[in-house]
Amino acid sequence: MKLGYLNEPSVLHNIKLRYSQDMIYTKAGRVLIAVNPFKDLQIFGNDHVSAYRQKLTNSPHVFAVADEAFTEMMRDEANQSIIISGESGSGKTETAKIVMQYLAALGGSNRGIEDKILQTNLVLEAFGNAKTSRNENSSRFGKLMEIHFSTMGKFYGAKSRVVQLASSERSYHIFYQLCAGSSFVLKERLNLRAASYYKYLNQSECLMIDGIDDAKKFHQLMKALDIVQICKEDQELIFTVLAAILWLGNISFKVADSENHIEVLDDEAVTSAARLMGCSTQALKAALSTQKIQSEKDTNAKKLILQKAIHTRDKIATFMYENLFNWIVDQVNKSLQVGKQYTGKSINILDINGFESFQKNSFEQFCINYANERLQQHLIRHLFKDEQEDYESDGIEWTKIDFKDNQECVNLFEKKPHSLLSLLDEESNFSKASDLTFANKLKQHLGTNPCFKGERGRAFSVRHYEGEVLYDTNGFLEKNRNTMPSDSIQFLASCKCELLPLFSKTFDLSLKCSQEQSVCQKFKGQLFNLMDQLECTTPHFIRCIRPNIKQLPDIYDEGLVLQQLKCSGILEVVRISRAGYPTRMTHQEFCTRYGFLLSEANKSQDPLSTSVAILQQFNIPSEMCQFGYTKLYLRAGQTDSLELKRKQVL
Ligand code: ADP
Ligand code: MG
Repeated sequence: MKLGYLNEPSVLHNIKLRYSQDMIYTKAGRVLIAVNPFKDLQIFGNDHVSAYRQKLTNSPHVFAVADEAFTEMMRDEANQSIIISGESGSGKTETAKIVMQYLAALGGSNRGIEDKILQTNLVLEAFGNAKTSRNENSSRFGKLMEIHFSTMGKFYGAKSRVVQLASSERSYHIFYQLCAGSSFVLKERLNLRAASYYKYLNQSECLMIDGIDDAKKFHQLMKALDIVQICKEDQELIFTVLAAILWLGNISFKVADSENHIEVLDDEAVTSAARLMGCSTQALKAALSTQKIQSEKDTNAKKLILQKAIHTRDKIATFMYENLFNWIVDQVNKSLQVGKQYTGKSINILDINGFESFQKNSFEQFCINYANERLQQHLIRHLFKDEQEDYESDGIEWTKIDFKDNQECVNLFEKKPHSLLSLLDEESNFSKASDLTFANKLKQHLGTNPCFKGERGRAFSVRHYEGEVLYDTNGFLEKNRNTMPSDSIQFLASCKCELLPLFSKTFDLSLKCSQEQSVCQKFKGQLFNLMDQLECTTPHFIRCIRPNIKQLPDIYDEGLVLQQLKCSGILEVVRISRAGYPTRMTHQEFCTRYGFLLSEANKSQDPLSTSVAILQQFNIPSEMCQFGYTKLYLRAGQTDSLELKRKQVL
């Protein structure tokens, strides 16, 4: 169903009606709307793949988008991108997998590589996804998957770029899988207990996910690690680091003197962690309970207070996890790169963490929502600005359609001197600053910005394109400071567990080249790289919609859907494709395609007169088309009769 002809109420009615018949895809102009079914539909099988490949059907589908991207890549020799957006839980990651499934079927023949590409999903999800209240399998990282094809359209290789914010508040699937599924021998070696035994895992409200067999998942993961060529020794190292992180989280402290200095409790947690990390219990205890103070003459160890010690412990654990994840991404990329040189083009699939708004929003949501504003800007630019500029430059009559621009909100985050990001960095550099002084600073400098709202105490709100979000600045400064104390770095470098010194080495290097880059700066840098890469591609858009918050099938919450359609600009897309001219062809293209339908008497040499003659012969009303300097513009549906005739004749 193409919504090009429809007005707003009928768009909503149509999406709902189609959803009730399990038709989850609808096309709105250039955007594919995908409503999450929350159940398995029989529309992704090989028969469907070949139906789309052979163009036997043109009903809207992810396969149709993937096919279009592939066809345009081959035809125009241009890189393509498929940009998947939507709220958390709306189905982006699943949709990305469906795209890959289709491309794998197209680019096959280079056997093995397509399986590898599909298996990378499994690996990255185990390490990068966690259960949240919105989505049981929520990606905690943004991913751009580049799939490279040879000039013949065969798979060549792939590469994933990730944008990630590590957080000690999340428990990734892999931990539960490891606890549930590791072999007896591995459990012994790592001294592993049940997931419920570990503080990092039992603090989150959800220990088990209904209907998910973590042990089985672990076995699938081990197979996937084999397929992406992470060798058994490296797999052992990965599991060792994971177990070390779990035991680190169980280390506790006791107050040792009247000034609240602490000591590390001598128990199984600290001995296990030390053994797994490859250091002495003594060294680990010192790393967690003291800080080296360098004076002119010598270095002294200063004892830490409880809060500091807990902080150091969690920082080390988060650091280890973040680097483990990056290391795995590197390994996977190495195994997917078939050769260094290739001349073909690529299709880039973007699946970035969707917009998030909880009751309490922190630094993580702040960064994710900022990334989504950027993505939305890209979408707006391509869907509205470019199209309208095209009309103007080609000299056709056109009444400009207003659309909701989000430039102002992007500026709120980025535009110096006083932006959310710059003020955050400024305050983070200031050792005396607190979350409250940060909040006050924002209110002082941004109070008049229409996208910003000061709230009581430490809070502030941002009017995002998706709606207003309340942020609590609690922890913002600390999370933004990229300070891994040099003590801790040195300590990790001294460990014998093979991966740990590697991490501290990469960290040292990155420190040198980017002097103390804050977390939000690093995130912004990664995001800009990603957007730059997207800029040089032909975009295709898929907008995922979450039909209900319960994550259940067959429930359609009209209000919720309307809100998502409104925020995403989809309704404007429909408006523009109704008022606009979605069919655009150069005069020459138009003549080549339909010229042969003309009766002899009407034929002419020059493309422009031929075009006019075709339109006349097929009674296409003049208000339904316009002649630009270079192209012919037609309103939605106007080529239907031409296409029909063409099929009959051919
Ligand atoms: P997002 O990446 O947008 O946060 P996911 O892609 O992880 O969301 O989807 C959330 C859940 O919705 C999935 O775990 C799955 O249960 C369900 N889902 C999403 N897309 C589909 C689909 N096409 N078919 C069946 N279930 C789906
Ligand atoms: Mg996801």
